[in-house]
Amino acid sequence: MEGKDILKELRPYEQGMQTEEVKRKYNLDHIVKLASNENPFGFSPKVKSVLKDADIDFNIYPDGHATELSSALAIHLSIEEDEIAFSSGLDEMILIISRCFLEKGKNTVMAVPTFPQYKHQARIEGAEAREVPLKETGDHDLDEMLAQIDEDTAIVWICSPNNPTGCPITEEQLNRFMDQCPNNVLVVLDEAYYEFARKESDLHALDKFRKYPNLLILRTFSKAYGLAGLRIGYAIGNSSIIGKLNVARGPFNTSSIAQKAAVAALGDQSFINEVTVKNIEIREDFAEFLNSIGWECFISETNFLLVKTPTDDIEVFQKLLERGFIIRPGSKVGWPQTIRVTIGKADDMELMKQAIREIDAVFAKVEE
Ligand SMILES: *Cc1c(COP(=O)(O)O)cnc(C)c1O
Repeated sequence: MEGKDILKELRPYEQGMQTEEVKRKYNLDHIVKLASNENPFGFSPKVKSVLKDADIDFNIYPDGHATELSSALAIHLSIEEDEIAFSSGLDEMILIISRCFLEKGKNTVMAVPTFPQYKHQARIEGAEAREVPLKETGDHDLDEMLAQIDEDTAIVWICSPNNPTGCPITEEQLNRFMDQCPNNVLVVLDEAYYEFARKESDLHALDKFRKYPNLLILRTFSKAYGLAGLRIGYAIGNSSIIGKLNVARGPFNTSSIAQKAAVAALGDQSFINEVTVKNIEIREDFAEFLNSIGWECFISETNFLLVKTPTDDIEVFQKLLERGFIIRPGSKVGWPQTIRVTIGKADDMELMKQAIREIDAVFAKVEE
């Protein structure tokens, strides 16, 4: 009953603090959760109305092929249905991909810090994770990642924009990388924050996976679409890779309600537009404020900012928590002396500015 040896070294995912927990502990009524890059504007009202009127037979298994969603998404993205596979969020997709392509004797190349599930799942499969430090700017070091590839490399993970730094790669960099990467190595491009990036930064990845059949693109309904609680994401790529993912996944890995909600969400692009426009406005305003008090931020094209703190990040985290703001301390996401802050609603970010001003004043005093 020992299971795989590696399980002794790994821990379950450590989630951010829950709102109710913080409310009780610090006796506060208003908590602002900015720790998991969730959408502070909720989700499309069209989803709400569809779900309210939906008459779903919960006693019946969902459509394992997600037919309706698959067809809607194929039209929306101008691709074929057999070029899409669905999963219970991208977390599960990362697990499925790892299960399909990794095993003992193989290795996988990724940045560090980046989304932690790539390494976690690789280790469970017995593969070696080769982590290439990000540049000081928070950008991927793609040349070094290429240099780490050898005959045993099965997957390269590129997270763009990257979590936790927020930095995107450029289309030119992606082209150069794909031209140089051996075509038997799967390149997984995680675009969880795709909708938040500027149009000028679009990697046009969907126009590339036919030219580069080893390119697999990941997108999710959890972030801009605001459906994190329903767990639904997808991979886009060459139909032969998609076919393999479909073999390995659970036969009913996305629920009927998630499929229905995703179709409705996809049909409301004005919501996405509204959310992304507001996000940029609030993020840039917040970044400007931080810079004005000397707290530097990484360039972000996402709904979060990685912010350099003047002192230990756990201390800043604690002081924000006591004031009702839940954020992610950088030392928990691989970049000490920073905090990762999800961009919330304008009102909440004003309150947060106030809290940071107070905290910054305390640190300034200590330094005197
Ligand atoms: C949030 C996130 C995911 C996981 O998203 P789900 O679809 O909710 O599982 C994957 N990759 C990155 C980079 C993320 O930030």
